[in-house]
Formats: sequence, structure tokens, C-alpha cells
Amino acid sequence: MPENKNNRRQMTDQEFERVRQSLLERKKNLWNQIMQELEREAGQRHQSALDTIRESGDHALEELFESNVLHMVERKARELENIEAALTRIDSGKYGQCVDCGRWIRPARLEVMPDSVRCRRCQEQYEKIENL
Ligand SMILES: [Zn+2]
Repeated sequence: MPENKNNRRQMTDQEFERVRQSLLERKKNLWNQIMQELEREAGQRHQSALDTIRESGDHALEELFESNVLHMVERKARELENIEAALTRIDSGKYGQCVDCGRWIRPARLEVMPDSVRCRRCQEQYEKIENL
């Protein structure tokens, strides 16, 4: 019998693997979109940024943030950063724990938003403070 996804608990190995796959898939798509966007919008002007990404692959994220092309792809680059962070948390075994209260985030939430770092309650609190 499957465990309830609406309970706060650690994900099962199967659930972890599913989330990891969807993060990797999303990451690949984002990189492709960023490349396409840069090529379309920037053309020759930002050729060096494109070359950097082609050469460095995953490691280009930091350089992308430092480059002046960021404003065009900022939202996607931020999402990419969150995804990287989520993958790191999976590797370190911390994935699924709320960074604020330390309790497990409901697996149902993680399946919809796999890069969540907070449980819903803490996220709402966090956004309230951010918007002050
Ligand atoms: Zn929390």
C-alpha cells in the first residue's frame, strides 16, 4: 500500500528517483531554452557568452550570472540555480527537509515543485517577509 503523499515524511527511494529524473530533465530543457534565447536575442553581440556556455556546460552558470546577458534569461537562470541546489541536496541527503523548520516537506508538494526548499507554511512566511 502506497504511503500518503500528503503526510510530512521522507520520500521513498522511488519517489526520490522520480524527482531526480524530473529535475535533470527540467535542467536540460532550461539549458536548451537559455541557449536558444541567447542565440536569438543576442546574436553576434554575445558570442563570447555563448562560447563560454558551450565550452563549460554546467559550469557556465556562474559565468552567466556575471555576464551582461543575464537580464534576458534571468528567470530561467534563477530556476536553473534552484534546480542545481536541489540536485546537490539530493546527493547530500538533505533533500525534502524544510530549510527553515527542518521538518519534512510533503512529497505531494515536492512532486509539483521539486525545487522547493521550504514547506508550504514556511514558504508563505518567507514570502510575506520578502514583500514587506
Ligand atoms: Zn518549514
